[in-house]
Amino acid sequence: MNTREETSVSEPRVYTETGSLADGRQVHYFNTTADARRASFADKRDLGERAEAGQLRYDPLRDEWIAVSAGRNARPQLPVACPLCPSEGHELTEIPAPDYEVAVFENRFPSFGGALPETGAPVPETGAPGLEISVPATGRCEVVCFSSQHEASFVDLPPERVELVVRTLARRTADLSARGDVAQVFCFENRGVEIGVTLHHPHGQIYGYPYVTPHTRRHLEAAARHREATGRNLFGDLLASERTGPRVVAANDLWTAFVPYAARWPFEVHLYPNERFADLAELPEEYISAFAPLYLEVLRRFDGAFRADASCEPGPMPYMAGWHQAPVNEHRDLAWLRLELVSTRRAAGKVKFLASSESVMGGFVNDLGPEQAARTLRDAL
Ligand SMILES: [Zn+2]
Repeated sequence: MNTREETSVSEPRVYTETGSLADGRQVHYFNTTADARRASFADKRDLGERAEAGQLRYDPLRDEWIAVSAGRNARPQLPVACPLCPSEGHELTEIPAPDYEVAVFENRFPSFGGALPETGAPVPETGAPGLEISVPATGRCEVVCFSSQHEASFVDLPPERVELVVRTLARRTADLSARGDVAQVFCFENRGVEIGVTLHHPHGQIYGYPYVTPHTRRHLEAAARHREATGRNLFGDLLASERTGPRVVAANDLWTAFVPYAARWPFEVHLYPNERFADLAELPEEYISAFAPLYLEVLRRFDGAFRADASCEPGPMPYMAGWHQAPVNEHRDLAWLRLELVSTRRAAGKVKFLASSESVMGGFVNDLGPEQAARTLRDAL
């Protein structure tokens, strides 16, 4: 059953259509025009049953949940045709329509969710007795295609498309937050073989976690202590301090991009809206419009970081970009929406690996001074 819906997320309007894939997963199209009619194209593949849902196992030492998704290992070799390109002739992909602007579909081999009922599944709680605690890995994993153009890259998208991508993420955040089994929504993009990307079609992902992630818990605990001690918002104080400091990389009236004082990664930039919003669904239209050119500028600065090094051809900067959003149901008054952009490249042709200190002890060693990284990025264009 296909549905079409005019959403009122923002002006200009986003037109959303939802269709079904052959195994029952949903595909959503986000259009800038009212008459795209993409959901009416049927998925003609024979996909069989949906993948079994995985498991969440509780680690009592770290007080963390680990998603164990053995089914993912059995996923078939990717077909020769890119599964994120639009379907064309006999080349049938995850996107049944012959073209699209931005498309989102449920991951076929998800870490969370899968062949589980949409709602009503238990949200895991820590503190239960026993040492071997597991629950079904509820939640949701989605793939976000930024463009139907296989060879495109996010940094080359026009600002209007970046805006549509952000509106798409805002809409998915709102929809996933309304499910009963999602505690936090994480929107992210990995780029580059150094990060482990195997599909080159420009795309990101959305994880609807059934729990609040360890980093978010720690950030919000720190923010709660800061409010208790000062009455102020920790993220707001950090932003105010950085805005006048030596590590700003780029800024406009509504956003500030800076390398944090205690960066973990050789190149790490945080993009804050200058006002507090809990998540993308709260972000006003003028902030979306102001974000697009600033983020594209920061990505161009990333790509230009090693351009001056004549000794090698470093290629596009590998990166991980993820939105920090408030949990769905707790501490939303403390959270501050922001994007974290990090690269594992520390020099032209050199990658920082997470070795023993980082991986076993959690003790990060940054080989590049944050002030130096900010200078390099400021000089990169
Ligand atoms: Zn493709």
